[in-house]
Amino acid sequence: MSDTKIKQIAPEEAAVFTADHCLSCTSCMSSCPVMEATKEYRGPKLVGPAHSRMHFSQEDEEDSLDFCSNCKSCDRACPSGVAVSTLNMLQRGEYYKTHAHSQRDEMLAHGEKMGKLVHSLPLGATCANIGMRIGKALGIFGLFGLAVERDMPSYAASTFKSLYKNISQKKSDKKVVFFPGCFINDNEPSVGEAMVKVMQVNGYEVLLDDKFCCCGSPMVVTGYIDEAKEHADRNVERILYWKNQGVPVVAACTSCSLMLKKEYEELFNEAKMKQAAANVYDLFEFLDILADKGELNTNFQSVSAKLTYHVPCHLKAQGFGVPAASILRDVPGVTVELADAGCCGMSGNYGFKGDKYDISMKIGEKLFSRIKEQAADSVICDCGTCRLQIRHGTQAKACHPVEILAKAY
Ligand code: SF4
Ligand code: SF4
Repeated sequence: MSDTKIKQIAPEEAAVFTADHCLSCTSCMSSCPVMEATKEYRGPKLVGPAHSRMHFSQEDEEDSLDFCSNCKSCDRACPSGVAVSTLNMLQRGEYYKTHAHSQRDEMLAHGEKMGKLVHSLPLGATCANIGMRIGKALGIFGLFGLAVERDMPSYAASTFKSLYKNISQKKSDKKVVFFPGCFINDNEPSVGEAMVKVMQVNGYEVLLDDKFCCCGSPMVVTGYIDEAKEHADRNVERILYWKNQGVPVVAACTSCSLMLKKEYEELFNEAKMKQAAANVYDLFEFLDILADKGELNTNFQSVSAKLTYHVPCHLKAQGFGVPAASILRDVPGVTVELADAGCCGMSGNYGFKGDKYDISMKIGEKLFSRIKEQAADSVICDCGTCRLQIRHGTQAKACHPVEILAKAY
């Protein structure tokens, strides 16, 4: 059978069956940041495995399911390997097969479409950014159910994909394909530019593949599960294509890399997703592998920077440690202190929702105080929406760790 033919993973390995492994130990409940912030959420144990067992066998709804942010802290805490957050997302997907989506969720799930539209129009980014500022001032966001307190992320004047065309790269036999994701492409292309610089200095040529689409994470969390599956199929086909060429795929947003490496397989249970996952790396995971092989260029220039590192939940869920901290600590002049303050509360598009804003900010309180205490020059964080939350909650500067590493070369 070819790699790309649909083949289900053995049923007993599927995430949905992990519900039966729940021991009711409640570890997931003590690790859930949403449960700590609000009494309205019944918590991972009851909403995830306990309810899934009933839900998949009868018509049923769990009222507090909407509170789960898919941060995945529960999955990490579970001693029994229950894919708690995935069970929640599968239930949410089922729910929205028979219930209408709000306009707000339609917008939040489809940032890729919005970004394409904005960047296809002359002065589209400028006009969209002015429009969003006016919209916020007039309180229009609230009419759509968005948090009126937040700025929506500004669009960059040029996308990463268009900037990439003007980057002059040294050709190399060693290549990676970059999966930029929507946020780096549309909002923070400087992260992509830094990634290309770092890979070039390490002897790699960076390719782009226009056939990649949004990883689907914003769709999963808003209940567009069928659409997320279509995106998974398209991306997995391309990852397997590159796997056959011997070219790894590298992502620099931890929600994208988690989706490609882990969530596709857990949500959709197809063998091709497991095969594709083996060809995907988060950026600092990839650099750490180079470091282990003695192949990372450590000819660093001095960079004067006192940094606080907020490690995103979706990086922790990948289980490869915190290599950005150890790599940056080798740069002369750089100090890195871990914030070690749990979830930031943003969780992708969760904190943009008007009815979740207070919960999101309450979850972030510990991180905000830690950042203020540490008074670093900048906060580093590998996730774009965590960076938005950090700037919003503290007014501190926040950038991707690769932007600091690029300065060292
Ligand atoms: S994914 Fe996060 S918010 Fe959802 S149940 Fe697990 S710990 Fe709680
Ligand atoms: S941590 Fe795992 S085993 Fe314990 S209650 Fe939660 S899902 Fe069940």
